[in-house]
Amino acid sequence: MADEQIKAALAPCGLSCEKCFAHVDGDIRRASLELKEKLGNFEAYARRFETMLGDSIFKNYPDFKEMLDYFASENCKGCRSEECKLFKDCGVRKCHQEKQLDFCYQCDEFPCSRTHFDESLYHVWVTLNEKIRKTGIEQYYEKTKIRPRYV
Ligand code: SF4
Ligand code: SF4
Repeated sequence: MADEQIKAALAPCGLSCEKCFAHVDGDIRRASLELKEKLGNFEAYARRFETMLGDSIFKNYPDFKEMLDYFASENCKGCRSEECKLFKDCGVRKCHQEKQLDFCYQCDEFPCSRTHFDESLYHVWVTLNEKIRKTGIEQYYEKTKIRPRYV
């Protein structure tokens, strides 16, 4: 059985919930909240900087803020606690519960046709679960901690 910390961070398919932009305790949400706090009322200053510095980049601040607010408001508790907000048709979540497995790489049916993933995600899923089988879940998890989810 995998360690609870690893299971909290990684979904049963092997993808990192912890690194997902939608995760309530994820790096992206945490960094967004921190940046929002540090920026304070920058919106008012952006207009001044546009004039003072003659740089039209500051015109884009409202769009940037909208995205930052979006990241900061995300609240998914992760795949093991609730249904995935991104892959609504995911077949892995229900399947691993029925089979009482922590991860797909442990399954004797892997790689199966129950995931409902598109071709690209299916390929990622197969590759990373093969990697986990080879290196072990602990080593794989250590690597996910220092790698961005979106590469
Ligand atoms: S369950 Fe889906 S939406 Fe939620 S953190 Fe995991 S990958 Fe992101
Ligand atoms: S049958 Fe497929 S989706 Fe279900 S646990 Fe096994 S590998 Fe994962």
